[in-house]
Amino acid sequence: MINFIVTSALLWLSPVTQPLAQPSQVPNLTWPTSAHVIRDFAPPWPDWLPGHRGLDLAASKGERVRTPQRGVLVWKGRPGGTPTVVVQHGAARASYQPVSTDLPLFTALAPAQAIGIVRQGTGHCVACLHWGLRIGERYLDPRLLLGDASARLVAPAVASR
Ligand SMILES: [Zn+2]
Repeated sequence: MINFIVTSALLWLSPVTQPLAQPSQVPNLTWPTSAHVIRDFAPPWPDWLPGHRGLDLAASKGERVRTPQRGVLVWKGRPGGTPTVVVQHGAARASYQPVSTDLPLFTALAPAQAIGIVRQGTGHCVACLHWGLRIGERYLDPRLLLGDASARLVAPAVASR
């Protein structure tokens, strides 16, 4: 059942121009910063409860951030004072905080391309990078962008049904 959910979600995520990695492909191992996960993806269920809607990766101020997949820079700003960069991958949007960029909006990005620099953290990510992924209002495990089929797509309560 879980494999079906993962496969279905990956197919659902497939963008028009560049499909996300499928489970049968060699994973893309270009992490945005390090692969050291400080705080794991813990989506709440129901979704209005507290949770962690992304991954926190070890990162230092001034460190370069890379996009794992081809995409387009679609937004940059400072919501709540936190520098943020958003990259569109087909139907999915990945967010990176606290990150700023000099790239202009709608820059086409190649896999592993630098998208910005880690800034001084505010909020819950002070010495790390908060990496989020969503489609619409639904949060997904950002490791999907690495082709990691073990990435959790749904809250544990839903997956166990
Ligand atoms: Zn976080």
